[in-house]
Order: sequence, then structure tokens, then C-alpha cells
Amino acid sequence: MERISPAGEVIIEGTGLHRGGKAVLALRPGSCGIVFTKDGRRIPATPAHVVDTRLNTTIGDGMVSVSTIEHLMSSFYGMGITDCEIELAGDEIPILDGSALPYVRLLEEAGTAAIGARCDPIRISSVFRSGNGDSWIEARPGPFSLTYEIGFPEPAIGEQRFHFTGEHYREEIAPARTFGRLQDVEMMRQAGLARGGGLHNAVVVDHRVILNPEGLRFPDECVRHKVLDALGDLWMLGVPLEAEIHAFKASHALHIDLAKQIFEACASGGQERG
Ligand SMILES: [Zn+2]
Repeated sequence: MERISPAGEVIIEGTGLHRGGKAVLALRPGSCGIVFTKDGRRIPATPAHVVDTRLNTTIGDGMVSVSTIEHLMSSFYGMGITDCEIELAGDEIPILDGSALPYVRLLEEAGTAAIGARCDPIRISSVFRSGNGDSWIEARPGPFSLTYEIGFPEPAIGEQRFHFTGEHYREEIAPARTFGRLQDVEMMRQAGLARGGGLHNAVVVDHRVILNPEGLRFPDECVRHKVLDALGDLWMLGVPLEAEIHAFKASHALHIDLAKQIFEACASGGQERG
């Protein structure tokens, strides 16, 4: 495989999900991996730079942080982009419609180009696991696949399972929007979060009812969004992870913990690459 960068500049403007402020992103060709710049400080998107995984994936360097990078990272997975310079004016990455599709469309318009360097996937030789019996994610040696299972008491979501083989990301995964339960949205609002959130950028569920007037994009849109999130979080490894991945009611925290374990194993030379 080859390392891939956007071929030109992409400007993305929008609102952040949690603080609700305006944000402008400039995506430019790069050759040093995926690197965010804010207030003149460079923060590489690696598992070691993750500073918060409670509601989204946030990276930082102790001085500045960049929140909600996971949907943009997922679009990079979908486009095979390993190298990009991202400059952010604002606190958070724009949430856009809550999915990865708007990023994919803009990157397609800009085009992508090989940067003339090799990109060897990570192939693991042992099992990595994070979590416990109720919620976990695991990677086993084998060809790439990602199976995700979720279960919610709300009948509007219920139990969902999706098996992603790496094919048709743009059609099957990228359009799936983030989702939340009405009571969680209300709680987050009271805590000063989700200020930029609404039915235009999230699926909101109230027990049996999907509150969005347009309904769902897929009957199992929620689990597809979890696949989207996991692909974005695991893309922090910087190269494709060729493994059989299985997630059960997992979260950003568990996705990132798995990525950290694998990243550290690679750094210590314990894993095969390429
Ligand atoms: Zn998400």
C-alpha cells in the first residue's frame, strides 16, 4: 500500500457539537501522518495524544486540545488518507450532519494523491482486548473485518449487529449519523454540553420513537455509526489494522485503549508489520 494525502486544500466550516461555537477547518496535503494544528501548536493524531474519550475523542498536548475528531478520522479511513495537515480555528471539529459523509464528499472533490511512501498495515500475532464482560472490543489475528454489536433498552434502538468487511464504506457506513437518547441530550444540555446538537446533526431517540421527522437513513443506523466511530478511533494507529475486530457495546474509551495497546506493542517491536 501507499501513503495517501489530500491532493489540494479543503475548507470546512460549521458548528461544534458540544460548545456550539463556530469552527473552521483547513485540510492540506501532508507527509508527516495526520497532524492537527491549533493556536500554532501541532498535535499528531496518535493514541498517545488522546486526552479525553468520555463523549468523543479529544487529542491534546497539555496546552491545547481538539475535540470530536472521530468522524473526520473515520472519513480519512474511508478515503485511505494517511497524511494530512489540519488547521483548526475554534475548539471542536464541525459536526456537520453528524455523519462522515460531508467530509468524504469534500475530500473527493479535492482528490487524493500518493505521496511516494509505503504504508504497511499492522498485522497482529496475538489477541488484544479491552473492556470486561459487559462491554469490550477485541482484535484477533486474521484478515480485516469489524463486527459491532449494541443493545439499548429503548425499543427504537434495541439490539443491532453489523458486520463490516471493509467494502462500501461510503455507501454503508459514512452516512450513519451520531445518535443519542432524549434524556441524555437533556442531561448534557444541563451540563453545558451538546449546545450545537439538534435533530439536524443527530438521531434522537425517545423510548419507542425516533424524533427526527425524516426518520432513519438505515434501519440499523445506530450500530453503523458505532462502526464509523470505531474505524475513526482505530485510524489513530496511522496505518490500516489488518485484524478480525469484534466490539460489543464498546465506547470511544475502549476503542482508544485497544489502539493504545496495539500502538505500544508495535513501538516495542513485538508485532509484525507489513
Ligand atoms: Zn460518532
